[in-house]
Amino acid sequence: MNIILLGPPGAGKGTQAQFLVEERGMVQLSTGDMLREARTSGTEMGKQVAEVMDKGGLVTDEIVIGLIREKLETVDAPGFIFDGFPRTLKQADALGELLAEMGQTLDHVIELRVEDEALVGRIVNRAAEAAAAGKPVRADDNEDSFRTRLAAYYKMTSPLVGYYYAKGQYERVDGMAPMDNVKAQIAAKLDA
Ligand code: AMP
Repeated sequence: MNIILLGPPGAGKGTQAQFLVEERGMVQLSTGDMLREARTSGTEMGKQVAEVMDKGGLVTDEIVIGLIREKLETVDAPGFIFDGFPRTLKQADALGELLAEMGQTLDHVIELRVEDEALVGRIVNRAAEAAAAGKPVRADDNEDSFRTRLAAYYKMTSPLVGYYYAKGQYERVDGMAPMDNVKAQIAAKLDA
């Protein structure tokens, strides 16, 4: 079973993906995590993407599609959770092609709906919690970068709602609910 978790920054995609990894043995493919890893590795690609990411912009389709392609070709999993990918229509088309080439299907596209006003609070909170725990704070978890990320979401990513709706694949859950409730809503979709 392959699924996409769709939603703005701070919607809880990573948290819910982690639950699915723990409980269903699925593999989380977060392009954000892959890009953060690439930048610490000091590669040329890492350097290129660092500045874009910190400001809250989108990295090029070529780079993220390449990262996903590599994972799909090398990782064996009972199912993938796409977290933060696709983020553009071009990426959505590419994912469809990659899965088709592999004889695989896309089984669920689930959007976590969260009101904008709640998002900025979650992001600021995530940064504060990381700092308190002595963990690295994401350079893009600040209010300025967040605004840019949210704008990028509405401009580039939210069209995916219509894209998947037209294919009869779009589902959504109330991401404003407590974490466990969101988890149950997602489980209900996957087990339906
Ligand atoms: P995330 O961890 O999903 O919030 O991603 C953090 C940052 O990585 C984003 O703000 C973008 O700069 C970049 N990024 C992650 N995934 C993608 C993607 N699918 N397409 C373009 N940029 C991405």
